[in-house]
Order: sequence, then C-alpha cells, then structure tokens
Amino acid sequence: MGNESALQRDTLLTKLGLSDHDGTGVVNVPVHRASTILFQSSEELAKAKAHRFDKGTLFYGRFGTPDTFAFEDAIAALEGGYGSIAVPSGLAACVLPLVGMLKSGDHVLVTDSVYEPLRATLTECLSERGVDVTFYDPSLGADLAALFTARTRIVYAEAPGSLTFEMQDLRVLSNVTHARGALLVCDNTWATPLYCNPISLGADIVVHAGTKYIVGHSDAMLGIVVVKDQKHYRALRQASNWLGYHVSPDDIFLASRGLRTLAVRMERHQQNGLALAHFLSQQPAVRRVIHPALPDCPGHAIFKRDFSGASGLFAAVLSTSLEKATAFVDSLSLFGIGFSWGGYESLALVCDPSHARTATQWQERGILVRFHAGLEHQDDLLDDLATALRVTGI
Ligand SMILES: *Cc1c(COP(=O)(O)O)cnc(C)c1O
Repeated sequence: MGNESALQRDTLLTKLGLSDHDGTGVVNVPVHRASTILFQSSEELAKAKAHRFDKGTLFYGRFGTPDTFAFEDAIAALEGGYGSIAVPSGLAACVLPLVGMLKSGDHVLVTDSVYEPLRATLTECLSERGVDVTFYDPSLGADLAALFTARTRIVYAEAPGSLTFEMQDLRVLSNVTHARGALLVCDNTWATPLYCNPISLGADIVVHAGTKYIVGHSDAMLGIVVVKDQKHYRALRQASNWLGYHVSPDDIFLASRGLRTLAVRMERHQQNGLALAHFLSQQPAVRRVIHPALPDCPGHAIFKRDFSGASGLFAAVLSTSLEKATAFVDSLSLFGIGFSWGGYESLALVCDPSHARTATQWQERGILVRFHAGLEHQDDLLDDLATALRVTGI
C-alpha cells in the first residue's frame, strides 16, 4: 500500500485495488470469467497448488481471479486486516469462521441479538453436529467471562444488532475472549468498513454482508470475511474451499463498483436516517426510537467512542396495535416493504424481535418498525411518514 494508508478513507476508496493491473490504462480491473487457469508447466501448476490458500494465488476459478483479489485486498485494507475472503452471501460470511474454526465438542458464545438466519444455522445445523452453542445478553461486558467453558473457541458479536440495535463493547469483549484463548468474530455490516473497524478494537475476524451497503444497489449478494492474522486467513481460505464457496466475477464487479461510491452514499444514508429518527422521536405515537446515534439510545456512549458515523438502519417502537402499525407501513409510498437494506431505496418493516431471543427477553411494549433510510430527498421521506401517520390515525 505504500503511502496510500496515509490518505483519507474517501480518497482510498477511489484508489484501492486499482494500482497495478495489466498496463492497458483501463481504470477498472477487468472482469475475469474463469474456471480453468492454464499453467506454463506441470511444475508451475504444482507451485500454484502448494500456495492455493495464500493471498492472490491464481490456481482454479473457484479460488478467485485478479478482480476478486483486488476487491479482497481493498476491503482488508479498509478494515485493517491481513486479508479478506469474498464469499457468496452475508450469511456465508457469518458461517465461514464457525465452520472453519469449530470442531465437535467446541463451544461458541453468540450474542442474543445475532442476525436471525445465523441463529438457525447455529441451532439447527451446528449444534446438531456437536458444537455447543450458548447465546449471551449483548449488554454483557466483562461478565461474559462467567459463560466460558474449557472448550469455548469463539465469541460472536454483532454491533449493533441489525434489528434491535444493541451496541456491544468490543474492547471489553476482546479482552475477555483473548484471556481465555478464544477468537472474537464481529459482524460489522451495519457500520460498513467506513464507520467502524472492529479489528482496531480487538476483533480477530470481521464479517460483512456486502449485499447491503457495499454492493449498495440491491442487485447482488456477497459476503466478506476479513481476517487479522495470516494463520487464521489460511485456515479460513481452506474452509471456504471445503464449503465450495465461489463468488461470480459479475458480483465482484458490482461490489467493487459499489465500493467506489460508498463514502458519498453513506453520508446521505446517515443524514436521512438521522432526519427520520428525529422526526419520529417527536411523534406522540412513537414510544421510542432506537438509533445508536441518538443520545438516549442505550449503547450511545459506545457508539460515540468506537464509531465514526451511523448508517441508515434504525427502528422505532410505535405505541399502537399490530394492525395499525402494519397499516402505517402499508400506506407509505416511498418505503418498500422487504428484507435486506443498504440499497438506494428506503424500506420499512414491521418486526417482532421476541421470536429471535433466548438469552434475553424483548420487553418493549408496542410494535417495532425497522426503517432503512435510502438516498431519496429527505423532505419527500418526511412527508411520506407524516402522511402515513395521518391517514392511519396513529
Ligand atoms: C443481511 C445480513 C446478513 C446476511 O447477508 P445476506 O447477504 O443476506 O446473506 C448478515 N448479517 C447482517 C447483520 C445482515 O444484516
């Protein structure tokens, strides 16, 4: 990277991974469609095979091509890791460190606020195959130590939770985790590599649903696993191969393209999210807005210390019935109803977090609506919210 690391993030986004390709003058790294990679000799092939789990080795299409490597290097540089591994979805990224590091009889501690589909992988797949899974209260810091067993290998965090936005103190968690010889894995999708870098706070492995803000246009699915140390990087490359993971070069292209505009998009997502959150917090029908950047949100102190910005995803608890909250969401015209987030479009979703808890209880009275603030003009979004509140009589 040379001097590049001295540059501001916004500038880095326009440079990373572009410095040294084929000398044609074309700005972007070309898309390489590949299964077979041809070698000059059997010896060259044997050499590539021996290094196939090392960074940037061209061996066989499934292991990636120069466009994959450029994207992986860019994300690793932004997160401050040794390397990163592109995988087929965000969920695939969450799963990789678990499958790659855990053996039958091992124990994993997982935040109760974890991305819900990963909970199913843990309880329906991994625990059925001999991995011992314990969910923990995301507000635990040093007290997490009491939940360790002699076989605890991984502590899995997500900061903030993508439905209920609990913050986690990664510095404290990493101290506790490392004191017991385990690894800290953190899902950093909400903040993107721009607004938080968990490795700098003590995490060993960072996972991202690149599907969200990095791709940024709701048109591709992709995950990324960033690894702090070379040793773990190799182990996870190998695990990625066990699982047969591969990311299409077209999806790598879309994610690389998304990365170039990430900083400007995140600024708007942040601004719009805050405007909506402030508006909603002033409405009599809104019991509570859960947005880590608002001072009354639990975890705000951690947010202020560890994050340099907020994305556009937050929630509001409405003091109304499920029927009225649903009618409110249905009558919004600029907010789509659907899963995922991080695209240019705003979204709203009625959610019931109580189904996704086992270590803690969701005790909020009222109905939770999760919002994603897209890239539309703020005034249009605010008008839409005001109209929907009015017509549904909330
Ligand atoms: C969406 C999401 C994932 C999964 O990503 P997919 O690409 O949809 O598989 C993982 N973690 C978090 C926090 C997410 O929001």
